[in-house]
Amino acid sequence: MRPLKVIYGPVASWRLGRSLGVDLICSPKKICTFDCIYCQLEEEKPTVKRDIFISIDKVKEELKNALKKTTPDVITLSGMGEPTLAENMDETIETIRELTNLPIAILTNSTLMHNKDMQKSLNKLDIIVAKLDAPNQELLRKINRPAEGIKFEKTLRGIKETRRGFRGKFAIQTMFVEENKDYAKELAALARDIQPDEVQINTPLRPCKVKPLSQKELDEIEKAFIGLNTLSVYHTTKPMTDPLDKLELIRRRRDEP
Ligand code: SF4
Repeated sequence: MRPLKVIYGPVASWRLGRSLGVDLICSPKKICTFDCIYCQLEEEKPTVKRDIFISIDKVKEELKNALKKTTPDVITLSGMGEPTLAENMDETIETIRELTNLPIAILTNSTLMHNKDMQKSLNKLDIIVAKLDAPNQELLRKINRPAEGIKFEKTLRGIKETRRGFRGKFAIQTMFVEENKDYAKELAALARDIQPDEVQINTPLRPCKVKPLSQKELDEIEKAFIGLNTLSVYHTTKPMTDPLDKLELIRRRRDEP
């Protein structure tokens, strides 16, 4: 089987528009600090080990070619796992900046945000979409099944610190499933403390091992977030897109974008 491409899409994202993906992991099996119960990618032991998975030259070459053929709304660091595990993420952001004026976003599970150097790198982005599914360690363990050593409090502190220093658009994304559907008030209280520009209320609508919540349930949950700027997956439409390589998209599946 041919290796995955670094650049994929544009994909139709309900929260970002036409999003051209940059995958700094590109592994046939996901590499992530979580193994969420709703992940569309196959179950895999989570890890906190950072590494260089893809060379900057490869990112540069593929992105240059892609931008000759398509004009997306945004370039998004995402892909086969957690993009902040890529040690060359900072360099990648600078490389993308040299090639285009398009906004750059990241979809992250927030677990490495406590690191000060990581916060500096994230500050170079235009949009951060940070996952927060659980209001405590017990639910984090149940829903996100993190790598050893990942603690709820430390992750939350990282989210708050990153948000404080960030001048771009900062969104919290919460995937609601059976396990956390009764914790909307607690999650909303945390969101009020974080003060994001947007709270993305999601449930796994794409095929995975977990059943999505109904629109009625999600509407009820959204009420707990009153006063915050919310975006619910059931009340958005996706833009039309014309992916550069449709097969490549079929080979990639995850909860985002
Ligand atoms: S859903 Fe996202 S954060 Fe969770 S395991 Fe899959 S890739 Fe990692």
